[in-house]
Amino acid sequence: MKVFVTGGAGFIGSHFIDLLMDKDHEVICMDNLITGNSQNLSRFQSNKRFTFLQQDVTKPIEVEGPIDYVLHFASPASPVDYLTYPIPTLKVGSLGTHNALGLAKAKKAKFLLASTSEVYGDPLVSPQPESYWGNVNPIGPRGVYDEAKRFAEAITLAYHRSHRIDTKIARIFNTYGPRMRKEDGRAVPNFITQALKGEPLTVYGEGNQTRSFCFISDLIQGLSRLMESPLNEPVNLGNPEEMTILELAQKIIHLTQCKSKIEWRPLPTDDPKQRRPDISKAQRELKWKPVVPLDEGLHLTIEDFRKRMKE
Ligand code: UDP
Repeated sequence: MKVFVTGGAGFIGSHFIDLLMDKDHEVICMDNLITGNSQNLSRFQSNKRFTFLQQDVTKPIEVEGPIDYVLHFASPASPVDYLTYPIPTLKVGSLGTHNALGLAKAKKAKFLLASTSEVYGDPLVSPQPESYWGNVNPIGPRGVYDEAKRFAEAITLAYHRSHRIDTKIARIFNTYGPRMRKEDGRAVPNFITQALKGEPLTVYGEGNQTRSFCFISDLIQGLSRLMESPLNEPVNLGNPEEMTILELAQKIIHLTQCKSKIEWRPLPTDDPKQRRPDISKAQRELKWKPVVPLDEGLHLTIEDFRKRMKE
């Protein structure tokens, strides 16, 4: 297959390109590198099956020749990033998704949207099933990401219904693993970087808000099954093992064997109090569930960060 990947230089996009290249597909990657890193793809630089285009997907996309699949991963995804780039975040979710769908339509290609658990906002239902409509503040600081992704889902299903595009939508919950940027700002990379530097771990609020962390290899398997499935409507992909952020910080202190303390910081506005995927749909329809235990995934991630700290 010839696959077009937006945001392919980012954390999830680049791991997915590894899988596509392993399966002998041809890959065209488009990324403007505002939060992505071309180093993540450096091993494919001279591979004839791989093309990199440094371009913003909100600008019209022109590609010659056939394309079988469009995978739309492009977007800032860390709260720190989408607060730094509020307008690019809104544009990539709206105009960028429109362009990527237009490309899929022109090429009669299948389409996969990387959506997010943020469509549920600060959920009043837990765990969150796909049928839950969410509790989102449209004008809060996170609204730029949440609403862009909600729009992205709406336009994706409109293209499916109006233009018969074979679309897939993955609602991706918190995912972690090697290649996350040290300065990414999310809890796992922040805590690991702080622990390895011997600095205090910054826990926001009282640390009793919950998240459920999925290791990247599990997510990639789930995305791959979804890509090949006939499902057109959203599917949750994530790890249902829920924990508090304070527990996560303590676990990282333990696993890195560092002497760091906890430093308490104010809770950011609209920070969701709980988040846990109901993955029964993915289990039933994709025969998928995460298999990497948190300790093992964190260990692999810590080793990757340790190596990169020395660079
Ligand atoms: N968080 C924290 N300290 C940090 C970074 C994040 O306590 O240094 C908290 C944040 O307030 C949130 C949770 O960890 O409650 C997960 O945040 P993250 O940025 O990883 O992603 P989110 O799930 O909020 O999109």
